[in-house]
Amino acid sequence: MNSFFKVFFSVFFLFALFPTGCISSNDEELDYKMKREHMVSAQIEARGVSDPLVLDAMRKVQRHLFVPDKSKPYAYEDHPLPIGHDQTISQPYIVAIMTELIKPQADFKVLEIGTGSGYQAAVLAEIVEEVFTIEIIPELARHAETKLKELGYDNVHVRTGNGYLGWPEEAPFDAIIVTAAPKDIPPKLVEQLKTGARLVLPVGSFFQDLIVVVKTPDGFEKTSVIPVRFVPMVGKDESE
Ligand code: SAH
Repeated sequence: MNSFFKVFFSVFFLFALFPTGCISSNDEELDYKMKREHMVSAQIEARGVSDPLVLDAMRKVQRHLFVPDKSKPYAYEDHPLPIGHDQTISQPYIVAIMTELIKPQADFKVLEIGTGSGYQAAVLAEIVEEVFTIEIIPELARHAETKLKELGYDNVHVRTGNGYLGWPEEAPFDAIIVTAAPKDIPPKLVEQLKTGARLVLPVGSFFQDLIVVVKTPDGFEKTSVIPVRFVPMVGKDESE
């Protein structure tokens, strides 16, 4: 074979075996998948989260698609990340433990306050039947809604509004997660829980605790879980 054909066939086989467009995106997907697996075992299981529904959801949801492009390389690291408008997507472990603390089940209807990037809503949507999520910053709400639709999360409903008021038309909920910190437990959110259902939220100003509230027939019980640091819940609690 003369050298022209040698070069021709080598180049032909190279392209046939490694279609260039595919190889890089497949590699990238695989890399993110491996990072997700590592995130779950090293940051989440290692710290005691054990609900298989939660671990599966954390393995599945593509966190890098919920952060700005420049943060994608850090999407699976053990810390919160900026998402614009001075807000952050929570640390993966915090998303996992809050999800575990509501004791999620497939038939649950869950309310989230503080949609942010939409990541926590997507994790919930992998597990439960319906997610209602409220965000006070309209641009973030619209961006999250578009992203969640694009990824096929048809069971998530996003609303722009003040989370202190909850979503009375859809109440009562099987669980409520709040991902911004109020100074006190918002009474309207407790009202919108079913009896026996759980509200998981950070409470405080500079020093905050992650609190689990369980609604009882004549009020509620609360337990403090761990110290946390969330952005403040803004807007007025109009029930005060
Ligand atoms: N759960 C988000 C992280 C949220 S950061 C995620 O997975 O990305 C907290 C969010 O709560 C911010 O987007 C902030 O704008 C929102 N927030 C603050 N106060 C609020 C209020 N009163 N009602 C609704 N959302 C609020």
